[in-house]
Amino acid sequence: CGIVGYVGPQSALDVVMAGLKRLEYRGYDSAGVAVLADGGLAAAKKAGKLVNLEKELVDWPLPTGTTGIGHTRWATHGGPTDANAHPHLDNAGRVAVVHNGIIENFALLRAELEERGHTLTSETDTEVVAHLLAEEFSATADLAESMRLVCRRLEGAFTLVAVHADEPDVVVGARRNSPLVVGVGEGEAFLASDVAAFIAHTRSAIELGQDQVVELRRDGVTVTGFDGRPAEVRTYHVDWDASA
Ligand code: GLU
Repeated sequence: CGIVGYVGPQSALDVVMAGLKRLEYRGYDSAGVAVLADGGLAAAKKAGKLVNLEKELVDWPLPTGTTGIGHTRWATHGGPTDANAHPHLDNAGRVAVVHNGIIENFALLRAELEERGHTLTSETDTEVVAHLLAEEFSATADLAESMRLVCRRLEGAFTLVAVHADEPDVVVGARRNSPLVVGVGEGEAFLASDVAAFIAHTRSAIELGQDQVVELRRDGVTVTGFDGRPAEVRTYHVDWDASA
């Protein structure tokens, strides 16, 4: 029900956890985070409130990294368990994805993935996306392009945000019939389902359009359609009381 992504000089875990707290009002049943660090990917996820995830992070600390994503889940496919919480990873543990919405054609995609030897470990509609991104990435070595290719195969309403350990300074987001806002800072960039998540850091925002993919880097953002065509980007100033 809430999504946060970050790339920049700060601790991604701190920025993402603070952002998720700002989205708590939306309601959720589980939460999770993933950070890229030391050439790898580390994730933690827990059913229940954010405080459960915070406890988990004290017991099993993640390495410090400056690229990360976070999620609060409102279960639609699969109960509110640790295994079904996001992020979802591919079998090699190199890609992590978070998702709000519903992938309508997940059952067919799941069957195809299993046929190709993937092992799916959750009951969610979301997990197929992690495996599909891993497949596309092994051919393209480009997470934004992989996301475009995968999104063209998805049906339903979705906001998706992903990271890949082989592109350590990149966060990629995509949306169809579900909101996603980009925050542009000085040497850092944010992604969230709601500006509330990053308003403490920047007031410069971009509303992602329908069927668009955004690639976030420290030095800027690139937006295209699912078809790869560059999209016109309009930055606006968030005029909103941060104390609200
Ligand atoms: N359909 C996904 C799930 O059940 C995402 C739910 C959400 O929007 O949080 O895991």
